Amino acid sequence: MRRTARYSEERRSASAAKVTAAGAKSTVRPTPQRTCVACRTVRAKRDLVRIVRSPSGELSVDVRGKAAGRGAYCDPDPACVERGLREGAIARALEVTIDDATADRLRKEMTEAAEARAKVGETH
Ligand SMILES: [Zn+2]
Repeated sequence: MRRTARYSEERRSASAAKVTAAGAKSTVRPTPQRTCVACRTVRAKRDLVRIVRSPSGELSVDVRGKAAGRGAYCDPDPACVERGLREGAIARALEVTIDDATADRLRKEMTEAAEARAKVGETH
């Protein structure tokens, strides 16, 4: 069912573009939203962490959300990360096979990303 993720991603960008065009005079942009691949909850993009498959096939947690490659969004919640890895939602979204070593590394990187975010939150 890899079609589903790709289709919804494209559809969302298309509708976002439409909203932007309609509200061209306004400086307020709609909050970009993404779906957590593990629990399918829709959240503000900034509340999710992007996992990216680089053009060379390397998986990593993309803290700034700007790395080139195919991305999948997941809650920075260990339970969601675990579920996404175990149930294969992350692998499916990125169209890759995730081996144990990579899964371990992603868990670690997600934890670090979540901690980095928590720190940013404290300063507000
Ligand atoms: Zn989730």
